[in-house]
This record gives sequence, C-alpha cells and structure tokens, in this order.
Amino acid sequence: KKVLLQVKNLQKFFYMGKKKTLKAVDGISFDVYKGETFGLVGESGCGKSTTGRTIIGLYSKTSGNVVFDGKDVHALNEKEQFSFHKNMQMIFQDPYASLNPRSTVKEIISEPMEVHGIYRTSKERTARVYQLLEDVGLNREHANRYPHEFSGGQRQRIGIARALALDPDFIIADEPISALDVSVQAQVVNLMKRLQKEKGLTYLFIAHDLSMVKHISDRIGVMYLGRMMELTESKSLYKKPLHPYTQALLSAIPIPDPDVEDKRERQIVKGEIPSPINPPSGCVFRTRCPHAMEACSKSVPQWQEVESKHYVACHLYNESIVGADKAKELVA
Ligand code: SF4
Ligand code: MG
Repeated sequence: KKVLLQVKNLQKFFYMGKKKTLKAVDGISFDVYKGETFGLVGESGCGKSTTGRTIIGLYSKTSGNVVFDGKDVHALNEKEQFSFHKNMQMIFQDPYASLNPRSTVKEIISEPMEVHGIYRTSKERTARVYQLLEDVGLNREHANRYPHEFSGGQRQRIGIARALALDPDFIIADEPISALDVSVQAQVVNLMKRLQKEKGLTYLFIAHDLSMVKHISDRIGVMYLGRMMELTESKSLYKKPLHPYTQALLSAIPIPDPDVEDKRERQIVKGEIPSPINPPSGCVFRTRCPHAMEACSKSVPQWQEVESKHYVACHLYNESIVGADKAKELVA
C-alpha cells in the first residue's frame, strides 16, 4: 500500500494572548494510504477540523510534519504549491456558506479551472461542468441556477463537483454530511464512495460521531482534546474498541430502527469536555473516564500497538502500570 499522506507529530497551537495557548492539535501522527478513506472522528473541539485545515495549508503548523506525495506541504515553493492545491481539495460541512450566493453553479464549478488555467476555452469548461454535474447526480439544467435554488443535499453535490473540477487525488471532507437530514446523509456517502471508485480518490473523512463513518472508512482515528486516542481498521474499531473514549462514543450511537430495542448499556460520555486551553494533566480523557486510575493524572499514556495495526493511548493496556495479566485480559 502506498502512503499518500503522512502526518507526523503534528502540533497546531493558537496563541490567545496573556500566556494562553490553545493546543488545538497536540502531537498527532497517522498515515493515509492511496485509495483509502481515513475517518477522523471526535466531538467538537477535539481538533479534527484544525487537523484538516493544517494538512491542506489553510493554517501554518506549530511543529511536526505533513508530507503529501513525498513533499513537506509547509515547505513548498510556489510552483509546487500550485500543483499541491490542484491535487488536494476540501469539501465543507455547510456547502451553502462555501458557495458564492451570487454565482451560478456553472461559475462556481468553473472558477478553480480558470484559476489553474485548465479547460481553457469556455466551450471546454462548459463541457467539463456538464460532465461534473452528471458525475455527482445532477444535470446540465442545473448549471445556470443559483445555490439557494437547491436543497442541502444538492448543494453538497455542487460542493463535491467543484472539489472534483481539478481532478484531485485527495479530498478532505470536513463533516460533509453533518448538516444534512439522515435520509440524505446516506445518499451523499454513497455518492462519495462511487466517485472514489471511479476516480481513484483518497479521502480524509472528518466526522463528529461514529455512525456514518462506518460505511465509508477503511481505517479510523479517534481524537480527543487535540490528541489521538485510538487508530485501527474500521472493522476492528467497531468490533473491539479498546479505548474507553471510543467505547463511550460507540455506545452513544443511536439505533436507527425504532422497533429494535436497544439493549446495550447506555454509556453516554459523562461530563463536560475540558478546555483545550487548560487540559487535564496526564491522560486528557481522565476527567470523563470511568476507568481513571492514579497513573492517569501523572503521565501521558504512550501510543502503543496493542494488537496488529491497532493502536491505542491508554494506561489500561500498559503492562508496567496494570500488570501483564490485566493488560492481556483486556485485549482478549
Ligand atoms: Fe481512562 Fe486512564 Fe485510559 Fe485515560 S489512560 S483513557 S483516564 S484509563
Ligand atoms: Mg469542525
């Protein structure tokens, strides 16, 4: 598997004055393989959007590295930046806010082509716009209309068409379905899956819960207060979540069918998310963790590969803290 994106020890801090520092992203690492969907999940304020924006270069980094296709994205020369922006595109949670209300759909989708000087003649661009509209399940009749004439789901399709205009390799989707009705969410996810197959796309798919990412992600990373808590293949995460935070997130997923009784013990994550300006010492999840121990306030849990390709940052799996038998028992 070819690694297309490497995020290494990435930190992104915002300095708020008076010695206040918001550690939005505090040392996270993950790889994204070519052709896969990597889901990045966590409650609001966990740093997942900041991670996406730092990867694509909308934010500078504080430290660490983002390497895309072999190149450090924060150290590109002008020419390399131009081709990087062509190859990595973003879709947003609220397509309405990201689409210019005074532009027609055709103008919106054409704009990146004009900026990048591809599909140069207006005839070529028009043909390309029609093709893209069809690719996302709209049609050429939609080209001369304005964003407000469309439903939320249709607007997200327009946002996707615009992101595809330059034929990118990689798309960062920042909560692309969170603002949509549940019935429309599945349609957009299915569209994204089809486009991924047809065009060989790689996705970073950002979401605030574990419900829909299940249907699109090959691997998932769970973030909390700027740190990565757990990372593994989608199947393993849903079958055997190891981190107490992931376990809580999973048990909070609503069961969609009202006729099916939910027999699982409800374990909604209790308590408030602490401020990222003043995060708890040691494990940042300890103020909400049902398993917190003395060690949890004293030291930051290390990132361990507990099982093959299953990484977790939690003292419960650290043999030198809980003893070898206990650590093994939890994984078994
Ligand atoms: Fe809970 Fe401690 Fe594990 Fe943190 S390190 S998740 S507080 S058990
Ligand atoms: Mg966000």
